[in-house]
Amino acid sequence: MPIIDAHMHTYQWNKYGDPPEPNLITRNVPAARSDDEAIDAYLAEMERHNIVLAIGSGELETVEKWRQRAPDKFIGGIEFPRYTTPVYQRRQGWPDLDGLRQKFEDGTLGILGEVTAQYAGLSPDDPQFDAYFALAAEMDVPVSFHSGFGPPMSAQRGDPGFRMRLGNPLLLEDVLVKYPRLRVYIAHGGYPYIDDTIALMMQYQQVYVDLSAIDWLLTEDEFNAYLKRLVQARLEDRIMFGTDQMIWPETVRLSIAAIERAKFLTAKQKRKIFFENAVNFFDLEREVLLGGESVVGPNGKIVRVIRGTIELRPREPGAYEEVEVDLDLSGVTSAAVRVKGFDVDATEEAVMTINGTEVPLPPEIVSDMQERSVTIELPEGVLTNGKNTIGFLFAEAVGGTTGYAVHDLRILLRK
Ligand SMILES: [Zn+2]
Repeated sequence: MPIIDAHMHTYQWNKYGDPPEPNLITRNVPAARSDDEAIDAYLAEMERHNIVLAIGSGELETVEKWRQRAPDKFIGGIEFPRYTTPVYQRRQGWPDLDGLRQKFEDGTLGILGEVTAQYAGLSPDDPQFDAYFALAAEMDVPVSFHSGFGPPMSAQRGDPGFRMRLGNPLLLEDVLVKYPRLRVYIAHGGYPYIDDTIALMMQYQQVYVDLSAIDWLLTEDEFNAYLKRLVQARLEDRIMFGTDQMIWPETVRLSIAAIERAKFLTAKQKRKIFFENAVNFFDLEREVLLGGESVVGPNGKIVRVIRGTIELRPREPGAYEEVEVDLDLSGVTSAAVRVKGFDVDATEEAVMTINGTEVPLPPEIVSDMQERSVTIELPEGVLTNGKNTIGFLFAEAVGGTTGYAVHDLRILLRK
């Protein structure tokens, strides 16, 4: 089973001392005595457990080191505003916004965060975060948001602003209303705020959660009870595996074991948690992760048109919405569109047109109260150089319901 670690860290080997601090649960002292050895130790775990991609954060220098060592298996972000630097130095820093934009553009960074607002004593809706969320929403960059809890007595141990109540994921609500296109995943399952985590995720469909740290820190019973609540609340499509691997490589094994031994999960649910949900959330190419060819190709480009718009949800048959996109088709050899639909009851409900040509949606997009993604190859000549108009007509209410929404549309151009 392929695994994506949606939440790990690029920490220096000696962040917590020399010799490094033993793991809280296993009492093992890490063997690594250099950053390269620490990276090697995690890469060995990736190999051993078929982890095909790791998404992690730390200081920019260490993120860059990881990118050099594992360019195809790692996506990075800068942990801010609170972070630790060797040895046990708690620091506060706010990345330069222009610098961030540049690094998102050139691919040096692929996520915003982990955003550690709680450690800084700040609520997610604090104005200091606004420009960062605006940038992430504009550039469609996923946001890793720390939530839940921290080490005991954090306020006395380097983070005077730390407050437990600031870990409540529901504090993100105003941010999500302001930025409906923001792709946020809340870290550590939002533990222990289960009711508020469910409340947030029920209302804001763009919110995902990762299981990092709680999968190896909590007792088996407590973790199972928490995960079961999330699954019972029909959130199984938005739960992602994560380790929170810091300096202890065995947390990879412990985290995987916690999911594997959860008897209430079906094999399909485990696959979603380990792999599929992260593919959807981070908008990854499944085929590439599984060792195949890229859909887009080596010189291909993905142009996103809509993300997170709910305006396409029709009110009555005949409702029509359209979006425009400017395309540069020079050198493009083939093209496709990838459409994400939510609660499409039947393909007759929705008619997609591109520059007036009807492009039928395949039956795979049909699903009740679920998100589905389909890729449709476009015949030559459907797209034009310059302005393109993509329209959706709500044609027919199947079963009397109007439950159809397209909330993501992207164009894949291959060169
Ligand atoms: Zn965290």
